[in-house]
Amino acid sequence: MTAQKLDGWAAAGAIRAQLADEVADLKAHGVVPGLATVLIGDDPASHVYVTNKHKGCEEIGMRSLRIDLPADTTREQALDAVERLNADPSIHSYLIQYPVPSQLDFNELLYRVDPKKDGDGLHPFNLGLLALGADGPRPCTPVGIQALLSHHGVGIEGATVAVVGRGLTVGRPLGMLLTLKEPNANATVIQCHTGTPDIGEFTRQADIVVAAVGRAGTVTADMIKPGAAVVDVGVNRIDGELLGDVAPEVAEVAAWLSPVPGGVGPMTITMLMRNTVAAARRALGNA
Ligand code: NAP
Repeated sequence: MTAQKLDGWAAAGAIRAQLADEVADLKAHGVVPGLATVLIGDDPASHVYVTNKHKGCEEIGMRSLRIDLPADTTREQALDAVERLNADPSIHSYLIQYPVPSQLDFNELLYRVDPKKDGDGLHPFNLGLLALGADGPRPCTPVGIQALLSHHGVGIEGATVAVVGRGLTVGRPLGMLLTLKEPNANATVIQCHTGTPDIGEFTRQADIVVAAVGRAGTVTADMIKPGAAVVDVGVNRIDGELLGDVAPEVAEVAAWLSPVPGGVGPMTITMLMRNTVAAARRALGNA
């Protein structure tokens, strides 16, 4: 078997076209959805991520504001940027790009973001809403994975899903999301991590395997049930090459496999854009 591609650019393109229509509609009502990013320091990968986020927004007619601060930014300066964005009515969503320099506490900054403007959906208030199954900005990578599978017709409802990784941006919120009793979820989720003695024992039971680990080659072909769908979230830069968490031979066993790059990455950005458009819609409703 050679797995079919879970094509992040195809899925993202379809959703971005819908979002462009929504942006046009909001503009007709006098609201331009606005996203801001706060990038602190010189991390080269972060610069690429932030550039791609702004490019995506601009392509569909959204406003985007980029705040780049130097690596020696103080706590007070970083908090000041957060407070200014909280108060800026033209910005409906924003994010602080992770990681931040070591003199800063990322969580302190995140917790000061107005939860209504939390583009990444990672503020504890919004993670609480997710746990409750309530409306609010949801974490971009987990909802991006959900949308990627749905776009390709991979059924999640009733499926057994093994999530490898319990990180706070991907694995843990993905487990919360896919067990919600709602459409495109309602799955049985097995959460694996470094405390799981034999991860393969669980992934082999799964119809869908999601690898969100940050270690190349963690998920190998012998860990996959023939015909399963495999989502590779990992981004590992090794000798100048970009590798996922899934070994290439998995394509010979799985029915579906997401590439790295071009799988989950474009979906994460698209969900950030979607969170911003939704926040602008809520702001219009409250105006
Ligand atoms: P993280 O917070 O560091 O979490 C990694 C998780 O993997 C942890 O729960 C860790 O277990 C687990 N783990 C590590 N080694 C393992 C092993 N050998 N076997 C089983 N579990 C293992 O990382 P993250 O933020 O979730 O990100 C994970 C990967 O996804 C990274 O490569 C990141 O760059 C990528 N990512 C991609 C996107 C995208 O849009 N494409 C977005 C976000 C993240 P413990 O909890 O026990 O330590």
